Amino acid sequence: MRLTNYFLPLLKEAPKDADVISHQLMLRAGMVKQSSSGIYIWLPMGLAVLKKIEQIIREEQSKAGALEMLMPTIQTADIWKKSGRYEDYGKEMLRIVDRHDREMLYGPTNEEQITDLVSSFIKSYKNIPKIFFHIQWKFRDEIRPRFGVMRCREFLMKDAYSFDISESEGKRSYNKMFISYLKIFKKMELNAIPMKAESGPIGGNMSHEFIILAKTGESRVFIDKTLLRLEVPDDVNYNENLSEIVDKWTAPFAVTEDMYNEDEFHKNVTINNRVEEKGIEVGHVFFFGDKYTKPMNATIQNKEGKVIPLQCGSYGIGVSRLVAAIIEAHHDDKGIVWPKSVSPFDISLINLKPSNADVNNICNRIYENLEKNRYHTIYDDTDSSIGEKFSRMDLIGIPIQIIVGPNSIKEGKIEIKDRKTDLRKFVKISEIFNEFPLKD
Ligand code: ATP
Ligand code: MG
Repeated sequence: MRLTNYFLPLLKEAPKDADVISHQLMLRAGMVKQSSSGIYIWLPMGLAVLKKIEQIIREEQSKAGALEMLMPTIQTADIWKKSGRYEDYGKEMLRIVDRHDREMLYGPTNEEQITDLVSSFIKSYKNIPKIFFHIQWKFRDEIRPRFGVMRCREFLMKDAYSFDISESEGKRSYNKMFISYLKIFKKMELNAIPMKAESGPIGGNMSHEFIILAKTGESRVFIDKTLLRLEVPDDVNYNENLSEIVDKWTAPFAVTEDMYNEDEFHKNVTINNRVEEKGIEVGHVFFFGDKYTKPMNATIQNKEGKVIPLQCGSYGIGVSRLVAAIIEAHHDDKGIVWPKSVSPFDISLINLKPSNADVNNICNRIYENLEKNRYHTIYDDTDSSIGEKFSRMDLIGIPIQIIVGPNSIKEGKIEIKDRKTDLRKFVKISEIFNEFPLKD
């Protein structure tokens, strides 16, 4: 993508009301624009990151056996009346009346909708286990939207729902999602720690929030430092017993403020291993049994012919919140430093002097070759000043910068800079393509 053809409306300074770094950087880097309170327009570069994140989630959820579908954003109030949540949900739910005076709502979550769907198709133990997921916009009329896309009103969520015959089978689905989450966040270079969360009437160890440590987080968290050193398994066979892995991750002490008890923290964690920090919730896994299937009559026949309610869990990831959370974890004083896996472009190519024919020719050749070899490249072909070009590319944080100017090409060389480490190397013009072979 040539920068002259792109849309990258950068801001010199972030507005005063943007008080967390991710919000400031997202605005300065032209990723989003507020449309109204808590509602954002995703500009091309912001959307590119959102799509990368979506794709990582999609691939990992599919590997764990979850099936993608897409449920609508607008739901009928009837199903929420059935589950009993229509009144309970309160003012966070955006309620709508259609032209026929039917009560509708903009979905804040989809337990009712999926349960209603499943109840009309899944009737026998032979049809389960099943895990469905979708990636869809949600609306929650948050009382105080803040921190940009971190806590907004319209946001993109991945939500999955599991359906099993028994609590023990449900635990298997829970474990699959738990491990899939570990892998998803690792791919984004996030250290997301599962922390025990309120599990409601079911009790047990079946609700965890995945939280990344960040000074700007909204929840206070208390964890055992050993969790920061645990390895996420690379190859997982989701058909095997996954309890061992999950147990390893859930054994050390890790709770949010709501679940905190000082005596327990001190009893369970040695003084040197105690970490008290703030965190950002990026995901939540939750097993709740027949909470919705019972009132909504989503039953199946078991092997003995007995009709019983399905046992369910739900599993959310804040896809749009993750864009901000990744920036919180990956930035420096010059701007964003994208992990490769979610970067909106693979490479940034900086033409320091487009008015110089040699520089221009070399840049064009490099650009065409990179694109041919499937490196998605943002090519600064503008006539901005050199200083502006450097600070712009540092701000938008593409992992690799290729810098081409008249001085270096006179010596037959091109500079390659690593955005994160600032390490620079010079390679011969004739060898530049060896650096970037065809991507698979
Ligand atoms: P929170 O405690 O942050 O309000 P929640 O417990 O209400 O979140 P869930 O219902 O578990 O959230 O939703 C799943 C995920 O969706 C959360 O882990 C979070 O990452 C994301 N999310 C929830 N609310 C918002 C919001 N207002 N803006 C952006 N992302 C959100
Ligand atoms: Mg939650």
